[in-house]
Amino acid sequence: MAFVITSLCVDCKDTACADVCPVECIYEYKGSDPSVPNQLFIHPDECIDCTLCVAECPVEAIFAEDDVPDSQKEFTALNAELSKVWKPIIEKKDAPADADEWAKTKEKKHLL
Ligand code: SF4
Repeated sequence: MAFVITSLCVDCKDTACADVCPVECIYEYKGSDPSVPNQLFIHPDECIDCTLCVAECPVEAIFAEDDVPDSQKEFTALNAELSKVWKPIIEKKDAPADADEWAKTKEKKHLL
């Protein structure tokens, strides 16, 4: 089992999760526009299930694989696929300027 970042992270990307991850297995996806990174994903083969990232996420976007809500199930595969494409985040960095607004938006899958 690994942990999964769901669509609540889209365009929010607080990155506090990456700051606490002991194995640097959180990756930044750049989305359809390469100049606008828009979500973080967890590499399932690298995650050691420590749970540290869960409490750090301000929008509660991170779930254990077995607890991912039905409406977000596709994100298990997306984490596995897209974490292998992009670069790991190893420390907290500034969130997008409009992250607070995006944090209030619950339906964001269509933005990927
Ligand atoms: Fe990293 Fe631990 Fe979160 Fe897995 S559960 S992504 S190892 S902080």
